Amino acid sequence: MLKIGCHLSSSKGFLSMGKTAVEIGANTFQFFTRNPRGGKAKPLDLEDVAAYRSFAQEHSLFPILAHAPYTLNACAADEGLRDFAKNTMADDLSRLEHIPQSMYNFHPGSHVQQGAEKGIELISDLLNQILTPDQSTTVLLETMAGKGSEVGGRFEELRAILDRVELNDKMGVCLDTCHVFDGGYNIVAELDSVLEGFDRVIGLSRLRAVHLNDSKNLLGSHKDRHEKLGEGNIGMEALTAIVNHPALRELPFYLETPNELPGYAREIAVMKEVYQGECS
Ligand code: FE
Ligand code: FE
Ligand code: ZN
Repeated sequence: MLKIGCHLSSSKGFLSMGKTAVEIGANTFQFFTRNPRGGKAKPLDLEDVAAYRSFAQEHSLFPILAHAPYTLNACAADEGLRDFAKNTMADDLSRLEHIPQSMYNFHPGSHVQQGAEKGIELISDLLNQILTPDQSTTVLLETMAGKGSEVGGRFEELRAILDRVELNDKMGVCLDTCHVFDGGYNIVAELDSVLEGFDRVIGLSRLRAVHLNDSKNLLGSHKDRHEKLGEGNIGMEALTAIVNHPALRELPFYLETPNELPGYAREIAVMKEVYQGECS
């Protein structure tokens, strides 16, 4: 069955996000765990969480995807910045335990002149400090566009991080279609071979979620500018092949396109239309 949703504002709490998701035809959603710039999180409203959990059960919204603030840098050269990333992520993970079986996605980081190898080492060190054997949340590394000194623009870099993480059974990967396209993986003309490469390097069993975005820029541009579905250089034909691909079609898809709610509702309806199979 097609599992699809979009990024929603978390300012009104979980129940409100759940209701919005259902209203726009989604059966999952993504949200920022706190201000995307990484400020302090509001105390968790346990009543809201409880109300959300029964609503989510009723509407089969599981699993949902939490997104870490994008300004965190797990491989910053400055130790204070790394500590901030570590403490923020650890706090996010402990809160997410109130919503069992969630996923938590983060941008691996930017190595800022330390080199990708050092970046990979710092990112896995941080993960080794915050993952716990009994957590129910799966932590996802997002595939990046390779902008500037971003780590995670190559599948090999994500694999190298996973290899160094002791509790890597708690980890997976989120594939962002705009990012991999901008990173030079031709998901338009060679989707099968890109996914074969992913399988060879990382393993498809690690792939847990897809960020479904079109791209404003060309293949290999390393820019990371999302576009509305069908209006960018990936295009509707390739996006249709992606949601229907045997290796991807059972995964949850999350739109991060430049849209307000009505635009998201339209894109969700379009993807349901082109999906070959059941849509709720
Ligand atoms: Fe992201
Ligand atoms: Fe993304
Ligand atoms: Zn992006």
